Amino acid sequence: MATGIAPIEFPPPVQSEKEFIGAFEDAADERIEVGIAIVGGGPAGLACANRLMQLLAEDERLLEQLGEVPVALIEKGRTPGSHLLSGAMMHPSAMKRLYPDLPESDWPTFGTVPTDRVYFMTRKRAVALRPTPPPFRNHGNHVTSIAQLGRFLAQQAEDAGVYILPETAAYKLIVENGRVVGVRTGDKGLGPDGNPLSNYEPGSDVQARVTVLAEGTQGHLTGAAIRHFRLGSGEPQQWELGVKEVWEVQKPLDRVIHSMGWPLRLRAKYREFGGSFVYPMGEDKVSMGFVAGLDYRDATFSVHDVLQEFKTHPMIRDILEGGKRLAWGAKTLPSGGYWAMPRSLSVPGMVMAGDSAGMVNVPKLKGVHLAMHAGMYAAEAIYEALKNGSTDDLSAYDAAVRGSEIERDIYRSRNMRQVFARGFFMGGALANAAEVSGGKLPPGRLHTHDDAGVDVFIGRRHKRYPKPDGKLYFDKLSSVFASGNASRDDAPSHIRIQKNVPLAVALMWENMCPAQVYEVPDEVKEQMAANGGLKDETQVEVHVNASNCIQCGAITAKGGRLTPPEGGEGPNYQIT
Ligand SMILES: Cc1cc2nc3c(=O)[nH]c(=O)nc-3n(C[C@H](O)[C@H](O)[C@H](O)COP(=O)(O)OP(=O)(O)OC[C@H]3O[C@@H](n4cnc5c(N)ncnc54)[C@H](O)[C@@H]3O)c2cc1C
Ligand code: SF4
Repeated sequence: MATGIAPIEFPPPVQSEKEFIGAFEDAADERIEVGIAIVGGGPAGLACANRLMQLLAEDERLLEQLGEVPVALIEKGRTPGSHLLSGAMMHPSAMKRLYPDLPESDWPTFGTVPTDRVYFMTRKRAVALRPTPPPFRNHGNHVTSIAQLGRFLAQQAEDAGVYILPETAAYKLIVENGRVVGVRTGDKGLGPDGNPLSNYEPGSDVQARVTVLAEGTQGHLTGAAIRHFRLGSGEPQQWELGVKEVWEVQKPLDRVIHSMGWPLRLRAKYREFGGSFVYPMGEDKVSMGFVAGLDYRDATFSVHDVLQEFKTHPMIRDILEGGKRLAWGAKTLPSGGYWAMPRSLSVPGMVMAGDSAGMVNVPKLKGVHLAMHAGMYAAEAIYEALKNGSTDDLSAYDAAVRGSEIERDIYRSRNMRQVFARGFFMGGALANAAEVSGGKLPPGRLHTHDDAGVDVFIGRRHKRYPKPDGKLYFDKLSSVFASGNASRDDAPSHIRIQKNVPLAVALMWENMCPAQVYEVPDEVKEQMAANGGLKDETQVEVHVNASNCIQCGAITAKGGRLTPPEGGEGPNYQIT
């Protein structure tokens, strides 16, 4: 079964240094000058913006010094929230810190749920694990739609005076003499060949005293900055892909559900790792999804279809019975944990916060509050640096994160994701040991690996997916429609891949992508069916339908590169 074909051998045509790092392009009087430029309107960026405005509200002199636009937030989605997708069971600590006077009942969440259940699933049965394993205990946490939370935080920020630039992608990091001095936004109105159309608008240089990279998963500028400033820890980041649906249901769900086991195959050779979540969103909705590691091996593995398969289970069918799907979406999250975090979170003029910097507790599936805490620490360090008259040294932010709940939380589970490379049972036993020992076992530093470095083979995983019926089981294209995606068909492709690759890699991309962006030509599939299978290494050409892309980021983990398309493109999530 070992093919020796790994996607990493077919790197995308990208010259990160040349394309994504550069000097100012606009003349000095044409630049947009701001005090602090925040890239990304997710929990990290928005918490940073709000905390900065709280601090500046107490310091009129500094506020004035920062000019007409003290804080600007650049977001590529149609609005902040449009590109946000999460579970989301949110730990309350960050909201409490940001809004100490706002009662929890006024938060934009669906409140807390007293009962947790973790099930080990087989095809027909669900065995509740008792007592609930500690990482899955969610007492006091709030069920949240992060797309709604983002809109709420953006409204607060705007009311406090933050200048929000929606539908704007930060495309290039502007660096002068080893210092980050802003970002350049992407062009708009280009045709498929990259030539300007009649509505062409060139990007602009945004000059800032400090740039905050809060781009979330697979950060485009963050990746370029980590390479340019050599900030990597030496351990590759790893990723999971989550596909999620929101359902209107007939009867309220009375508990928070997590599951492990089926429909994943547990043998080590498949490297299928992950699980499901099903959260009640008030009385009449549930949020459900499946999250799986992107270091799997079978090229026919598809997280979207695994989620459809998950719905064939009697317990899940019962929850959804008579209900209706309201929303769908997908996104990756970093899972390399502590060892894969950048070795430094700041360079002169720039800091990185949230998923951009790998701040996710993977066994608990928690990143929202960690991103918000990081955003607030960034705001506090930037404020102090501005007060002291220089933003060259922002290492106070590093120090704040290193001594905080962010580091403690992620350090405790530092070796947990790695052990699952040994299969579910061995991994489960080692993960339990890690939990019981507070992270001391297994000892030492277990290495992470590049998801794209794992070899892939054409297996038979796809035989198990249910046929879409448009009621309970959905295909990818109708799901993309449910994400509110509206991207121009005639825009230049923002997906970088090698187009001629072995069949195993091409099929892996086709199945991996939840939005049906990659297609192996029909004639190749016909040939496969006719002669009982082409070889994994047969060279084929992949077709790319870039306008379907919902920017989940999986392609960057598995051998290609997502770059930001024109601002405003992509999904328009409302309740994910
Ligand atoms: C399926 C799934 C389930 C999860 N479940 C939970 C959960 O239950 N509880 C929990 O706490 N965490 C959960 N997480 C993790 C959590 O969602 C993240 O940790 C959190 O959203 C990180 O926040 P962030 O602000 O760093 O990034 P994001 O939320 O990703 O926000 C980044 C923002 O930046 C914008 N952006 C990115 N690049 C650019 C650019 N170049 N220019 C302009 N804008 C840009 C994006 O459009 C986006 O709006 C889950 C994640 C997934 C994928
Ligand atoms: S093409 Fe877009 S939607 Fe598909 S895997 Fe890549 S980033 Fe995700």
